[in-house]
Amino acid sequence: MRNYFTVTISDVHGSRHYSFKHFFRKFAWVIVSVFLLIWSVGAVSLWWLAYQAQEMETQNAARVSAFTETLKQARADYEKLLAEKDSIESDLEQKSAEIAFLDQSLKGLETLVGVDAEEPEKLPYEERVKQVQLNTLGKNLLLNMTPSGHALSVYKGLTSKYGYRNHPITKKRHLHGGIDYKSAIGDDVVATADGVVKYSAYNKDSGFGNLVTILHANGFKTRYGHLSQRSVKVGQFVHKGQKIGEVGSTGRSSGPHLHYEVWFLHHRLNPLPFAKWNIENYDDIFTKVKGVPWGSLSLSVDQIVKKVGKQLSQTVASSAEK
Ligand SMILES: [Zn+2]
Repeated sequence: MRNYFTVTISDVHGSRHYSFKHFFRKFAWVIVSVFLLIWSVGAVSLWWLAYQAQEMETQNAARVSAFTETLKQARADYEKLLAEKDSIESDLEQKSAEIAFLDQSLKGLETLVGVDAEEPEKLPYEERVKQVQLNTLGKNLLLNMTPSGHALSVYKGLTSKYGYRNHPITKKRHLHGGIDYKSAIGDDVVATADGVVKYSAYNKDSGFGNLVTILHANGFKTRYGHLSQRSVKVGQFVHKGQKIGEVGSTGRSSGPHLHYEVWFLHHRLNPLPFAKWNIENYDDIFTKVKGVPWGSLSLSVDQIVKKVGKQLSQTVASSAEK
């Protein structure tokens, strides 16, 4: 015999007995239905939540990706702007330095030219430029009267520099008192400054063969050796750039070339800084070449420029009165 728990319910109508087996049998479908209902609702809810989560994740991923893209673009823009800013700043710095340098140069020139105004930087710009042009005139004057530029109309390079060396022919160590220009027979040799021809002949003793010597202003002298042709005579005035002869290989020479010397009073100087000297690097020579009183020379040229300027303005004034 099986044992069942029994529930007895007693009221005024009597007692009723319910065994659990009976109870379950009677209510089983209700319990199963309720359970199934709860399970289905739960399952649907879980699916819906999972779906929602998935949806949100997808949306978030899209937003994050869009934001990352925007950020990347913004960073690229920022870096581009930063680079532009750096470039502008560097340009500005360079321009400021240039302005400071120009201003300094102007002041220096104004001092040299002797501008009377106490504060020359307050003068109108045109006035200051006029002062500089006056000084540029002086510079050009000095460059014309002093050996400057190459002694050949077409520069092809050097084969020997100024200084001590073993002579290619005598093999003895001695001072090479000039520079040797790479050149061919017949190349044009030109005067490096205005001057007067002091010597033009075949010189046996020096070994320079056909030699031309030109005297320039302020104690300078230039010599051109080993020429094949001489086209100037003693006492002839020549101007800077004028042809004075042609390249050759006369005298003690190992091959066609031009030997060129620059003298100041009784000293030979390295001709190279003079050969490279022009209006653009005008100031370089003052530090590169010692033994020339550049300061008093500049002053003397400046006085000439001022005198000429004064006479010019008087001429202009008197012709205006007429
Ligand atoms: Zn030489």
